[in-house]
Amino acid sequence: MALIKDLAKKVFLLEIFKGMALTFRMMLSPAVTRQYPEEKRGAFPGFRGLHALVRKEDGSARCVGCGLCAAICPSKCIDVYTSEGADHTKVVDRYEIEVLRCVYCGFCVEACPFGAVVLTEHFEYSDYSRAALFMDKDKLLGNWDKYMAGKKGIEYFKRFWRPLSEDFKAHDDQAVFRGIRK
Ligand code: SF4
Ligand code: SF4
Repeated sequence: MALIKDLAKKVFLLEIFKGMALTFRMMLSPAVTRQYPEEKRGAFPGFRGLHALVRKEDGSARCVGCGLCAAICPSKCIDVYTSEGADHTKVVDRYEIEVLRCVYCGFCVEACPFGAVVLTEHFEYSDYSRAALFMDKDKLLGNWDKYMAGKKGIEYFKRFWRPLSEDFKAHDDQAVFRGIRK
């Protein structure tokens, strides 16, 4: 039986007709190619795009200059320069990212204990000069204002970078440090 079926397929060129029918169907179906940049897709929530430094409500950067992001960065493209302030606090003098070397792994965001650095959804930032893709502290804070301002910035860590430190709760019977008893 199988032999007859096989023979029939060969004699009547069934496979060729099936293939041609598929080609014809595809010719009549609407094109799926997007005419970028005229036609753009919507937002890409959680996309790992251009970097930004988180700005606090008082307008200053949330970054404390601990350098963990720079230490973990596999591309070594983050540089943090700090000095000691008048009241012995650490001052972040410079925070720089060489965007062209970044591999968008997101380790810097994960490593930061203060939620001070983010990867925004913005991806259209090609340029003809290297300088434009060298981000200093002001540019990075500007990126926060442009791409993460308002609710978006507040939601960012909750939606895309779980678990947060508050997710690690101790079991009820686990011994935890509760301060000195008097
Ligand atoms: S996303 Fe990865 S490669 Fe890019 S700056 Fe952060 S840690 Fe470095
Ligand atoms: S961005 Fe975060 S990890 Fe990097 S130096 Fe600032 S506080 Fe530390």
